[in-house]
Amino acid sequence: MIRVLISGQPEDWDDFGDLLPAALLDAGIEAEFIQERMPRSPETIDYIVYAPWSDMKDFSPFKGAKAVLNLWAGVENVVTNETLTAPLARMVDPGLTAGMVEWCVAHTLRHHLGIDRDICRRDADWDPCVPLLAHERPLTILGLGVLGRAVGGALSGLGFPVTGWSRSGKDVPGMTCLSGENGLVEALRTAELLILLLPLTPATEELMNSERFALLPKGAILINPGRGPLIDDDALLAALDTGHIAHATLDVFREEPLPSDHPFWAHPGVTVTPHIASATRPETAVGVIVENIRRGEAGEPLLHLVDRRSGY
Ligand code: NAP
Repeated sequence: MIRVLISGQPEDWDDFGDLLPAALLDAGIEAEFIQERMPRSPETIDYIVYAPWSDMKDFSPFKGAKAVLNLWAGVENVVTNETLTAPLARMVDPGLTAGMVEWCVAHTLRHHLGIDRDICRRDADWDPCVPLLAHERPLTILGLGVLGRAVGGALSGLGFPVTGWSRSGKDVPGMTCLSGENGLVEALRTAELLILLLPLTPATEELMNSERFALLPKGAILINPGRGPLIDDDALLAALDTGHIAHATLDVFREEPLPSDHPFWAHPGVTVTPHIASATRPETAVGVIVENIRRGEAGEPLLHLVDRRSGY
């Protein structure tokens, strides 16, 4: 019998408390589930299912933990925690990926087709403006991980010429893949629409600064479902004010919820969405957690392990 701590808020227990025990039993693994903030005998906990919004910040009592299984794709809230010595796995969830693809495709098409212009049209306002076709609008995705590749695949399937940029060189069918500083310059120069799907690490913080915004074609669109601090907010506002960037759709922010006096709220060139681009879906995520616990018990390598040095 293994012991699994679900470290989160009560709603996490609501989401996973029924699904996870049943799925583990189906996999032939008997488990005791613990929900308390600090359980009895913490050294006997085998796995910690970890929500980044939980109150747990000190992992040192969990001396026997075989793994911490993060419920989010992003790990910036936990990856630098020095009390955490057990392997850390991040969430790669088919439901989360599907949600991100849908959100990015929707917001890309909104801007590509100029949908706002037509929705806001008044009755007597007959001013036909035929949109470009997808193949006429090159776009770039920074980050070619699980999410960047899935979003890029959907957009290239619609006909957009997609360039992707990542730390290591990649070969993704249907996409131009670039890496390195020169690759970034090239990726930005052609990006009529730019999607950020990078993790937040010391190397990516404020990657999008005024110099890099200046590389984008005039009138470019920015879509950021990655992390808020990937962007220098002031540099973005300046680029919006000059019209160099025509519009920014932002889902994530340096401070969340976005403070009510933040200029993004009032700026006509900014769409704010409240960190809903995607979310872990318990129905599909549970299978990923169970598979990692099964692997841990069988002595097999865990899936989706975080490289603590690179921070993602
Ligand atoms: P992932 O699979 O770890 O992919 C990260 C990608 O970023 C990889 O291609 C990686 O390059 C690249 N990268 C990392 N550091 C880099 C650097 N310094 N320079 C260039 N490329 C770099 O992550 P994912 O699952 O796709 O998720 C990406 C991010 O999306 C998450 O970290 C999270 O912040 C965000 N997210 C947001 C939401 C939301 O609702 N808004 C939901 C889920 C996730 P390599 O391929 O070479 O390693």
